[in-house]
Amino acid sequence: MNSVWLQENKWKDVENYLQKRKTIIIPVGSVEQHAKHLPLGTDSFVAIKLAEDVAKETGTLVAPPLWLGWAPHHMAFPGTITLRPETLTSLLYDVAKSLIYHGFEKLVIINGHREANLPPLKTAVTKLRNETGAFLTIVDPFYIGSEIGKKIKKSEPGGVGHAAEMETSHMLHIHPDLCDMDQAVKNVAENHRYFSHDPFVSGDTVFSPSDVHEYRSKTNHVGVVGDPTVSNKENGKIYHEALVHNISDLVHHCEENIQVELRNKEIPL
Ligand SMILES: [Zn+2]
Repeated sequence: MNSVWLQENKWKDVENYLQKRKTIIIPVGSVEQHAKHLPLGTDSFVAIKLAEDVAKETGTLVAPPLWLGWAPHHMAFPGTITLRPETLTSLLYDVAKSLIYHGFEKLVIINGHREANLPPLKTAVTKLRNETGAFLTIVDPFYIGSEIGKKIKKSEPGGVGHAAEMETSHMLHIHPDLCDMDQAVKNVAENHRYFSHDPFVSGDTVFSPSDVHEYRSKTNHVGVVGDPTVSNKENGKIYHEALVHNISDLVHHCEENIQVELRNKEIPL
């Protein structure tokens, strides 16, 4: 294997890989506004970099990144591209089904776009699990990096949201060239406690979708929810390394301990 990326290898390399290993990583992101200080591709850049570093650490192959996600509310700002949720479900379903057809048994999906992508991705993996017997798991930095996130967080409650503290610190570590911290502003709104969006604040919460027509004003016409002004690259490095460590641990566990019996291997038609 010359590269961890499937698309940079030859078919023979994949055939050889499958004789030894059965796990593959699939990075999934989004292209959506990330305020004035982070690039539109942030969620995809995060998923891609995590996938690449975990792959190098564990010797695992990575499928081509799925760049686009479900982000209707972010259409309030130009440049955002959103798929319909059923398109994202179908996209992951077809990619995964092709990989399962070739004999990949364990698929680790790294989602860079937290909650909005999760319902369509969960639909796809639940269908595939039951139809094919393959083992699929969705990794989201906010949840698999929960312990380290809570430990290093500097902002007040509500400071972690969109284009906010953790995401900005992470980007300052992996893509400083694409960040413009002079443009970073804070937007921590006073919400009813049930409406907290900060994954590092514990408490009782509800889910209420955002509305594209009010999203600009709700995000102070900037597109930020939380506080990126306390972000720094040192915490980004700590956060990234903890995530790579945790996801690598998961990949090792999948490869070594999860038993799979594939059934219904079919080409998506
Ligand atoms: Zn993001």
